[in-house]
Amino acid sequence: AKHMGKNTHQIYTPSMNITSHKVYYLEKDIRKAIYRDELFLEYQPKVSSKTGEIMGAEALIRWEHSEWGRVSPGEFIPIAEESDLICEIGNWVIYQVCQQLHDWKRSGIDLVPISINVSPKQLLKENFTQTIMEACKIYSIDPTSLHIEITETSLIQSSIVVNETLTTLKDIGITLSLDDFGIGYSSLTHIRQFDLDVLKIDKSFINNLPDQQEDVTIISSLITMAHGLGLKIVAEGVEKQDQLSFLQQQECDYIQGYLFSKPILANEFITLLNKNRLQ
Ligand code: C2E
Ligand code: CA
Ligand code: CA
Ligand code: CA
Repeated sequence: AKHMGKNTHQIYTPSMNITSHKVYYLEKDIRKAIYRDELFLEYQPKVSSKTGEIMGAEALIRWEHSEWGRVSPGEFIPIAEESDLICEIGNWVIYQVCQQLHDWKRSGIDLVPISINVSPKQLLKENFTQTIMEACKIYSIDPTSLHIEITETSLIQSSIVVNETLTTLKDIGITLSLDDFGIGYSSLTHIRQFDLDVLKIDKSFINNLPDQQEDVTIISSLITMAHGLGLKIVAEGVEKQDQLSFLQQQECDYIQGYLFSKPILANEFITLLNKNRLQ
């Protein structure tokens, strides 16, 4: 559908499968989603595995489509990534998070840093760091309240540009996390070559803990290695108590997953944060 002209009227034929049909309309509709006000963010807490204290949250995009209802980011982000649309969506997320931090600060809420997911194309845009700095300035946000989650796909691009961008982000005080660590390219070169702060271990390594011996070995070695390199570790997708117990025992720094909380709306997040601080 990507290669079809703007005015081409696509007719549904039985030979087209429903998936490509949906992709075509999704792509068209993502363009409208921003100004139709169909996008919003949820926040998923990250907690200290030692104390259970909420140390931050990850902003996750949500799309409420007028006909289809909720479309998951796993479905529409890859479509958006095929064009510059991902940059528009990405900029919307940056401004939305900064505005939210601004609103929270104004109502006297003591903040925790918020993590933003950044796609490779967006990170490599020549004005990416300017966009971040501009959003921080407009909403008087200290960049130390922002964390950025990138994937290894970003790191295999032209290393000069990536390095320059990451160095600038670090210089202004932004914390850098490497998302989905363990799947994809997973080259140890990346964590040596770039000045990262946090490794997020992919959920697929957490799922079968603590029963599967291979994963136990991988996780405990990863944590030791990360700590040896001065990196913090986040375990993603922690759903069960015995996974948590194992990760605590291994001194994993942070936990994110349904066991503690699903991604929730901004006001629900603040309620949870206040409750958490009273404990
Ligand atoms: P991700 O960055 O790896 O985000 C973690 C995903 O795991 C989220 O799915 C989250 O809801 C889910 N999750 C968290 N804890 C658990 C758990 O205990 N069990 C299970 N089964 N799942 C858990 P979500 O929100 O559907 O997002 C999927 C992906 O879409 C994200 O994966 C990220 O790659 C992308 N995405 C989401 N928001 C944004 C955004 O604002 N910008 C960009 N570029 N990508 C985004
Ligand atoms: Ca992420
Ligand atoms: Ca992830
Ligand atoms: Ca993932």
